[in-house]
Amino acid sequence: MSKQNLFSSGKSHTHEDIGYNKKESGLKTIAELIKSGKAKNIVFMAGAGISTAAGIPDFRSPGTGLYDNLSKYNLPRPESIFEIQYFKKNPEPFFELARELYPSKFLPTLTHYFIRLLHEKKVLLRCFTQNIDTLEQIAGLPEEVVVEAHGSFSKSKCLKCNKIADPKWMKETIFSGVIPKCVGCNKGIVKPCITFFGESLPEKFFLHMPDFNKCDLLIVAGTSLQVQPFALLIDYVSSDTPRLLINRMGFDFDGSFSSVRRDIFYGGSCDDGVLELAELLGWKVIEFYYYYISNLHFNDYYLLCL
Ligand SMILES: [Zn+2]
Repeated sequence: MSKQNLFSSGKSHTHEDIGYNKKESGLKTIAELIKSGKAKNIVFMAGAGISTAAGIPDFRSPGTGLYDNLSKYNLPRPESIFEIQYFKKNPEPFFELARELYPSKFLPTLTHYFIRLLHEKKVLLRCFTQNIDTLEQIAGLPEEVVVEAHGSFSKSKCLKCNKIADPKWMKETIFSGVIPKCVGCNKGIVKPCITFFGESLPEKFFLHMPDFNKCDLLIVAGTSLQVQPFALLIDYVSSDTPRLLINRMGFDFDGSFSSVRRDIFYGGSCDDGVLELAELLGWKVIEFYYYYISNLHFNDYYLLCL
């Protein structure tokens, strides 16, 4: 297990002396905060780990992660597939990968529906996601609640004239194996509005930074917090705001927070973590999940992706 010290700095503590860094008691603390109404402006930060149960590979898991499975594209390095300068010269590998990762091939997970449940219970302020799979919106979270920090496939535009492409045309073009060229200027490549390395993050990301000041509970799930500036967000909440991290990567819970012990780690899959939390809250997340999954074809957004 690598030492990550992600949530803190300062004096070291072991798992034992933190006390409520144990699965059950930690989640119970979080559930009580929500039940008592103390946590009513929750910010949820989602990483690739919330979508792996949907069959979407994450980036960095050794062996199964995306970056370990790109050898067929002969890239200078795995990250090149998402580098804007490389894409401008050689867009084929990205579009080949895009056919594998296209959103309508996947269904949201239990964790996506747990986030929607937070919204329905009126305790979710915002969901910041690193994911480009649009599963938060397919699960029914309204657009204004979700900040796709790295963009998504839902919108595409020309790299030369910025003309927005019709999503249906874009999908058909990608799946026909042709590089999408702008029908406006006839010159530029049309690229999904996914934030590549070398591009700035969407405006919406910066617009919603003040959410972290209002946040009274931060839930971070399915991310190893290695990609900046997303990973920095955890330090934007006030110094006494409780933070729950759910991931299976392992976490060396180093550090103290002066007199405030506010951080909790759940080591396991995102779905297991939210399921346990939902049980402690008395929320029927499984029933909620099955109800919406079976009615998904009524969802307009999903139809758009078909
Ligand atoms: Zn154009």
